[in-house]
Formats: sequence, C-alpha cells, structure tokens
Amino acid sequence: MSWQAPKAPRGMPDILPDDVPRWRRLEDTARDLLERYGYREIRTPLLESTDLFARGIGEVTDIVEKEMFSLAVGSKDRPESLSLRPEFTASVVRALLEHNLHRKKPFWKLYSIGALFRYERPQAGRQRQFHQINGEALGSYDPLLDVEMIDLADQILRRLGVEDYRLRLNSLGCAGCRGRYREVLRDFLRPRLAEMCETCKGRFDRNVFRILDCKSPTDKAIVASVPPMEQHLCDPCRAHFDAVKAGLDRLEIAYQVDPQLVRGFDYYTRTVFEFPCARLGAQDAVGGGGRYDRLIPDMGGPEAGAVGFAFGMERLLLALEPKPAAAGASDADARTGVPVAPDGAARGGVFVAAFPETRAVASAVLAELRRGAVPADLDYEGRSLKAAMRVADREGYAFVAIVGEDEAREGSVTLKDMRAGTQARVARGDLVSAVRGVKAGG
Ligand code: AMP
Repeated sequence: MSWQAPKAPRGMPDILPDDVPRWRRLEDTARDLLERYGYREIRTPLLESTDLFARGIGEVTDIVEKEMFSLAVGSKDRPESLSLRPEFTASVVRALLEHNLHRKKPFWKLYSIGALFRYERPQAGRQRQFHQINGEALGSYDPLLDVEMIDLADQILRRLGVEDYRLRLNSLGCAGCRGRYREVLRDFLRPRLAEMCETCKGRFDRNVFRILDCKSPTDKAIVASVPPMEQHLCDPCRAHFDAVKAGLDRLEIAYQVDPQLVRGFDYYTRTVFEFPCARLGAQDAVGGGGRYDRLIPDMGGPEAGAVGFAFGMERLLLALEPKPAAAGASDADARTGVPVAPDGAARGGVFVAAFPETRAVASAVLAELRRGAVPADLDYEGRSLKAAMRVADREGYAFVAIVGEDEAREGSVTLKDMRAGTQARVARGDLVSAVRGVKAGG
C-alpha cells in the first residue's frame, strides 16, 4: 500500500529556499536595529506550562479560550499540561524572574525572534504557526520608553521599506481607570446589547473591553460612538499619555489616537499601539504592542513597569510584496531589493567536474576547496562533463575545476574561468589561492 502524499499541517506553511533570503533580510535588519537600541537576545522554550499563558495573557481572551495548542503529558499521578507558546511576553517575564535577572539589574531590554502557535482559522496573513520579531523593555514606568519603543518599531518599518502604514495609539489607563471605564462602557452598551453579535453578548459580563475591537459591522457601528477611554483616565495616566504623545510629536512620528484600540491581551495598561498597513487585507496589523505595568508583580516579581512590541514576520513580508505594476521590473528582487542570482543561487564558487574514474580524487579536491573557505560543489547526478559545465554556468559558478585522468595522475586540475572563458592547469596545492585571485607562489 502506498502513502497518500503527506502535507504540512493546515496553517503551518513551509518556508522554501527561494523565500529564505527575504526572511534573513528581515531578521538581519531587525537584529541590527534592536541591538542599536540596546536590546539583547533571549531564547525561551517553544513550550511552557499552560498555566503561565492562562494567567499571563488572561483567561478570558481568544488566545487562552480557544487558540492554544496544549498537550497533556506526565503520568496519571503527576499530569502536566504544556502549551506551544502563542506569544513571547509571558515567557520573557517568566525567564526574567526565574533567573533573577531583575536582581542583577532592575532594567532590561530583551528581544526574541521565532515561531509562535495559535489555533486560528487560517486566512491571508493569519496562520497557525507564524513568526514574530519581539521586543520587551522591563523595569521602567518612563513614558519616554514607550516613545523609544514606538520609534524603534517605526525605524524597523522604514528600514525594511514598508509603505502605507499608520500608527494607532490609545491608552487603556491603570486598573483604577479601567474599573471606572468598564462601568461607563457597560452603561453605554447595555441598551444596545440585543442588537449585538452573540460573542459580544458573552463578552459583556466577562471582558467588556473586547467588544471594542469586534469585527461585526453592526457592533462596529455601535462601538464607534462609545465615550472614549481618554476622557476617563485618572490624572497620572493622563499625564503619561500626554508625555507619550508629546514625545512622538518631538520625533515627528505621526499617530492617530484611536479609542477603539484595545488589543487582544489582558495584561496591557496605559499605552497601546498598533501599525495597520493598507497593503494588507482584513488582517491588516503588521505589528503592535503596549505597556504592561502589572504583569511582573502579578507573576510574583517586584513592582516594575514594562513595555513590549511585536511584528508579525509573515505580515511584514506580505506588506513588502511588490505592487502589481512594479513586478519583474529589475533583476533585484522587487519585494526586498536584494539582488538575486539565476535560480536564486548566488554562488560564485567552484564547480568540480570529473569522470566516473576520477570522482574519488575530485571529492578530495572538493574538500580542499571548502577547507580553504571557497564555496564549492561536485556533480552528484552522474552528468557528463559537458552537462556539468552547463549546470555550472546556469547556477552562476565562477570556475569549473575539471579532474580528468591526467590531472588525477599528476595532482592538478584544469581550472576554467567561466567569465573570461580561459583555462589553465593548476597544481592542487595552488588551487585555493588561484581561485581567490592570488598568484601562486607570489
Ligand atoms: P499580537 O501578539 O496578537 O499582538 O500580534 C502581533 C503581531 O503578530 C500582529 O500584528 C501580526 O502581525 C502578527 N500575528 C498575530 N497573530 C498572527 C497569526 N495567527 N498569523 C500571522 N501573524 C500573526
């Protein structure tokens, strides 16, 4: 019986070799800027105790209620539930506290890049395995830190060349403001609840703030006229929000205060922000973040404020896709501006060509080239010399090193310079310097 062709799990696409240069560019750009802003990398496990996310993100959130990939492990007597991480923040705070980093110094800037998992309905820009570039600044209440983080996110977008994005900004206040505003919201929404979607009817008692970002058109229309949170902030929260706005103005970063912006996690306090991009469809946020001043103490740590942000890497790549008119306009990859070699293989090195009798010697020549830091490869597909030359040409090799019987006997190769079209016999001991353009012996 034969297998049915196996497929990757739904919503968990492969990233194929032709796509990897775009991913690398994204990562390199982000790392470069994050490190310039003082962030250091932290790598946490893919799995954490389910409880960490339930408590960190909030029990009444879409992620914890229905989107976690959880697995039951352990024995009957000691059952354990682990979940694939749906976000980074809870893990980073756990690691900070577990390793007492906050005792070594009270302020940390940490970043992570990697895969996350949410059991969502896959659609354009929404997958079950996706990737984020994530930054967390832990140990400060300073509104200038919120400004710096938004500036960093904005710089990443600019350096990548993302266009047509905006910055939405809001303040969710502190626990006190939220408590008061919760009642304002309930009083406003109660008379209209009958018209609203079933999900929002459920949210009314459990987490009324989530109604603000409901996607149903009827609910959206109702929510458009709720009294804005900004009018219900306490004095310190208002001062914080004003300082963030003034800081953004100083850096000439444009933003729109959007009272409907609440975001999907319970831990946010005060500043929240999001970057929607007009190039994307319904799932239009390339990234976002906010301040979470209660999470560290709630997880058993000291009183300490923090801010975080995350970009979805798939969404950034979608936002960087060329506009239809620009497609195929140049040799450079239109999505990223990275020059691409024929077949996507930017090699330049040496292709070693041999005959069946000389392949064993050729494999030693190949190893010598690689040990000399020269990118090199050998034909493993049983091609004739002529066919091997064609492949070397097509894949952009700079040289072909031919190992014939004479060459094998005398310890040399015939080195063909593919661009110049010239060829010469070179002793094996001189091969590495010859291909690096250094004259042998001098
Ligand atoms: P969040 O962690 O929900 O604040 O999301 C931050 C960013 O991650 C979003 O703006 C998206 O760019 C990206 N993101 C979140 N969920 C998904 C998903 N299921 N698939 C792809 N990207 C996602």
